[in-house]
Amino acid sequence: MRRRQMPTGRRVVRLPDASPLSSQTTARLPSRTPLPTSSVPTQRNPRVPARSKLIFAAIVIAGVAYLLSADRTVSQKALAIVATKPQTVCLDPGHGGSDPGASNNNITERDINLTVALGVRDLLQSQGYKVYMTRTTNDPTLSNADRYHYCNNQKATIMVSIHHNYFTDTSVDYDSSLYYKPQDLALATSIVAATSSKLGLSNNGVASFQDGVLSESNMPASLSEGFFITNDAEYAKLTAPGSTRLTDEAAGIDAGIIGYFANPSPPATPPGSTPPPVLDRAD
Ligand SMILES: [Zn+2]
Repeated sequence: MRRRQMPTGRRVVRLPDASPLSSQTTARLPSRTPLPTSSVPTQRNPRVPARSKLIFAAIVIAGVAYLLSADRTVSQKALAIVATKPQTVCLDPGHGGSDPGASNNNITERDINLTVALGVRDLLQSQGYKVYMTRTTNDPTLSNADRYHYCNNQKATIMVSIHHNYFTDTSVDYDSSLYYKPQDLALATSIVAATSSKLGLSNNGVASFQDGVLSESNMPASLSEGFFITNDAEYAKLTAPGSTRLTDEAAGIDAGIIGYFANPSPPATPPGSTPPPVLDRAD
């Protein structure tokens, strides 16, 4: 087959009438001020050095304007790169369907796990991340295998399961994160640090926990136990008018995930933690 010949005619490129730089430069040029004659040295053409200074000043100002303009462009390009980063997150709101999880009066884990997860999803999506969710309503009843199979099939970069703890002592309250695989540790540590800070709770650190979601997932995974649903003060906060407790928690988990992506190395010294009374289980 013969190759098609490229047209030999000249290509006309239309240039914009005026670049933003030129208009900025014009706007920022100082007004010309008359030079005192006493300062002008005796030369063949005494106006030339003064004019040169003005031209030099204009070039400097134009250069600064260009650099500022270039900086903005670089920043916008950086933001665009951040917005299209390849990391993907698989969120797993614990329980659901016929499994309400832990509860306190009318508040169930099934509900608040989903509310927090949807909040994290919205934040991550607004920051340019692709997010998968094992459930987006309270209807499905999912096994652990359903959850990790789904996230594995999506080939997500990380998996975060969202739960809340419970205990018979209603005064107990702290934040903790669970991990199982060595590669889970940095993610769990980042999430519990950011979430406990946002919630104003004690950071109880990370604890190893053999759970199917953690052990069978192909990617770094963590199970967040944001606060104790059985705690009296938490119940008061959750039921207060205009409560921001769950949006604060979502912001914490989001910050923990972003922090992990920024620094996915495990901590040099894993934070020690008292094994929490993990009565809540994902299955
Ligand atoms: Zn749970």
